[in-house]
Amino acid sequence: MTELPGIPAPARRLVGNLRLSPAGEEQDPQRPSVQDLTECISFSPEEGRVWLHDQRVILMRTSTMGEMRRELVASLGEARARGILTRLGYSEGVRDAEFARSLGPEVDPISTALAGAKLHALEGGVKVVPVHLAFDAERGLYEGEFLNLNSAEADEVVASQGLVREPACWGLVGRVTGYVSNLLGKLIIFREVECRAQGAAACRIIGRPAEEWPDVEEDLQYLNAEGFVNASAFGPPQSREAGHLPDLEVPGEGEEDQMVGVSSAFSTACHLLRKVAPTRATVLFTGESGVGKELFARMLHDISPRRKGPFISINCAAIPEALVESELFGVDRGAFTGATVSRPGRFERASGGSLFLDEIGTLSLTSQGKLLRALQEGVIERVGGTELLRVDARVVAATNVDLEEAVRRGEFREDLFFRLNVFPIHLPPLRERRDDIPLFMTYFLRRYNTRHDRSVLGFTARAVRALLNYGFPGNIRELQNLVERGVISVEENELIDISHLFRKEQIPREQVYSVARSGTLANPEESVPRPPQTDLLDHLAQWRPEGGCSLEQFEARLLQEAVERSKGNLSAAARLLGISRPQLAYRLKKGSSSK
Ligand code: ZN
Repeated sequence: MTELPGIPAPARRLVGNLRLSPAGEEQDPQRPSVQDLTECISFSPEEGRVWLHDQRVILMRTSTMGEMRRELVASLGEARARGILTRLGYSEGVRDAEFARSLGPEVDPISTALAGAKLHALEGGVKVVPVHLAFDAERGLYEGEFLNLNSAEADEVVASQGLVREPACWGLVGRVTGYVSNLLGKLIIFREVECRAQGAAACRIIGRPAEEWPDVEEDLQYLNAEGFVNASAFGPPQSREAGHLPDLEVPGEGEEDQMVGVSSAFSTACHLLRKVAPTRATVLFTGESGVGKELFARMLHDISPRRKGPFISINCAAIPEALVESELFGVDRGAFTGATVSRPGRFERASGGSLFLDEIGTLSLTSQGKLLRALQEGVIERVGGTELLRVDARVVAATNVDLEEAVRRGEFREDLFFRLNVFPIHLPPLRERRDDIPLFMTYFLRRYNTRHDRSVLGFTARAVRALLNYGFPGNIRELQNLVERGVISVEENELIDISHLFRKEQIPREQVYSVARSGTLANPEESVPRPPQTDLLDHLAQWRPEGGCSLEQFEARLLQEAVERSKGNLSAAARLLGISRPQLAYRLKKGSSSK
């Protein structure tokens, strides 16, 4: 059988059989509800981003999709265009399935099987009505038939070409194929047997295991075109964790941090790193605390020709001023009281390898002078020493202060700055590479589940939203700490919620809008409780006294109605009216005396 990406091992216990009621109405799966799904869509207009759970999405006009299809058909021919749209749909379906899984194991199999359809409906692509659905993942059985109403894809085809002869919902068929195949762990092929674009009232699709279809080669040809299987862009979402810079050998350090990212800011930094690694050039990493400067410096060493040599790291800010020089350049016996033996400094120890100088902006001017000499002439002098020692260490420096500004203030030598700034690489703060946040969340979740021997499932929609929109002043290190705290505080087999991540005073004020909360899609009957007076007023609106009534009469009637409804309990009646009990008593008294 043809191997396709995005199909994991068969999901056991995934068995379902959806029987329709005699009236032909489908059983509506409870979860995920439309509310659950809309909770997963969030808007951050200030950031120019929309999220579907933890993945960035955009809103695109269907007419633009229609144009894209026309362009593809015109330039590549119908078969290749169909292949492309089918495969794009397929990879979208695989991601939908990952999303459906993230809803948690308490969702029953039928609901899981239909969650993708609900999501697609919410996105505005199609309304799916199941006709028949039965499956057993363990035994590899699947039979499904669905009516697809209002297919946007079919509508666009009709709008641009009129009615066509063949079924036209290529992307949709690809998407449901990817979704169901991923959930079942087995290739389930869907075919569209009638299409709205052909003039049918609705599109109808049928799904069966690939081996049960005759002439399945044609379906496979659209799914499995050249380049598909190997192209990571079409692979399952895991392949997006192209944490990058492969062949990293860190023996004995299984939990070693890895560089993770897909954002363009991260890719730019990796690109620069790869370019400079084979050279001897000094590299200066700039960026806020916690962005991973040491990690990048290590990676630079590991992919450089010096990888077999030592990687020596020193944080210049962590060493007392008086000791910095001896740490860096070493000490000769008798240099000062107590220096009874000669000791090499980090520069010497890094010979043949790389020396990482973190927070270089904190070096004293004297040390800066010595460092400059080491960089320019390749020689150092131990403290108290008399001879010059030749060293061969590649210097990699990092700073979170603006060195140019420090030069202007006279705190940093200009000549050293120019010597260091040969190849600067800026590492952006996490808030400028938000696309990487979901990757880090998954990465740290897995790590801390292992380290603390826990089985935490993931994050709630609220927690995802909070993390995606948090400012992260402490950058990746802060996210790492938050996830570790979450993994420790949440119950086993539960989802990490905001309260597990943030202490109350830290909870970020969201600058994000969820569709559900803005009320646009929320059912107002459910979400906004009616004020108690409304019923009363509705009732009185039906009241048509002969000859009309005065304001006093209307008020009297309103009070009387409230008291009757509350069975004479004045406090309850006052609550119904939205006034205090004494106010009610006063008005009742006034009303009866004026009669
Ligand atoms: Zn169709």
